[in-house]
Amino acid sequence: ITILAIESSCDESACAIVRNGKEILSNVVATQIEVHEKFGGVLPEVASRLHVEQISAVIDEAVEKAGISVADVDAIAYTRGPGLIGSLHVGVQAAKTLAWAYHKPLLPIHHIKSHIFANNLITNLKFPLLALVVSGGHSEIVYMKDDNSYEILGQTQDDAIGEAYDKVARVLHLGYPGGPKIDKLAKGVESLYKLPQPKTQGEFDLSFSGLKSGVLQFVDRCKRKGETYDDATLAASFQETALNEIMDKLVKAIDTVEVNQVLLAGGVAANSRLREKMDEAFKDRKEELILPPLWVCTDNAAMVAVAGYFAYKNEAFGDFSQSAKPSLKVMDIQK
Ligand code: ATP
Ligand code: MG
Ligand code: FE
Repeated sequence: ITILAIESSCDESACAIVRNGKEILSNVVATQIEVHEKFGGVLPEVASRLHVEQISAVIDEAVEKAGISVADVDAIAYTRGPGLIGSLHVGVQAAKTLAWAYHKPLLPIHHIKSHIFANNLITNLKFPLLALVVSGGHSEIVYMKDDNSYEILGQTQDDAIGEAYDKVARVLHLGYPGGPKIDKLAKGVESLYKLPQPKTQGEFDLSFSGLKSGVLQFVDRCKRKGETYDDATLAASFQETALNEIMDKLVKAIDTVEVNQVLLAGGVAANSRLREKMDEAFKDRKEELILPPLWVCTDNAAMVAVAGYFAYKNEAFGDFSQSAKPSLKVMDIQK
């Protein structure tokens, strides 16, 4: 089964062609980071315009690199949501156009499922599994009994972890995207500043907005009092508090399920400190720990093609009436 997939949910225009959810024939990503860096974050209007400018060339390049014709693929997968409406729209239209022109079935895909299925590119997923999804828009602990089920055991009550990283980076004038910059700055640095501990309702839920405000207040207080603080120590203190919250809930959640694998998914999975903590927490456990390489973590279309392959096997086909859905829920995919 060969799937051509398109991803445009945020600030990456991407197209990939993947065989059997595994063999990458091509994987082209055009990132807009350089443009958004100038604004200190993703401007939705700018993002959709750049997608319009880039998507055709990205698709052409993916088809050319794969060395096949669109006529040879079995289905067209695309990210239907969640994401920025204007950005999603461009990918949805491109996918529908290809499906129409080449008489191919459509596979609408949930972006977070793609982040999880991305791991199949580097290993064989063995269900049931537990996925820690940590990205720019999501922070979830997900239990998947099989390739077609999805149960959220815990999730953020407010901000996503990646959002918190990006906001804290802004306070420290590190630029966008903030995650990798904080990761680098905090490396090997002791977390000496006391910041508010997250409080949550649900047992496995997460929270990052109090911590984020805590960092802002810390900086304001120092400025008011004319005190100095160390950027790297503050970055490390934020990171330790945020990651300890995640690890604490993950370890609690895993004791309520039987799984073969535990895997990381989403952009924040690239974080080096989180990976250290995962290694440490799982070194003596029976579950297999999967830490995907960085290119698997960040937005790309190969992961959409993998999710598309499983959707194809489950006959989860879509149709031309479906449009982009910025607040798409995993189980809504067929509606
Ligand atoms: P979503 O997947 O929830 O729709 P998104 O697609 O914008 O959101 P991703 O592209 O998966 O998110 O991830 C981007 C996020 O990952 C950004 O918030 C970025 O700061 C963060 N990130 C990337 N690398 C690192 C890192 N090394 N440490 C921490 N955060 C990181
Ligand atoms: Mg992104
Ligand atoms: Fe993403």
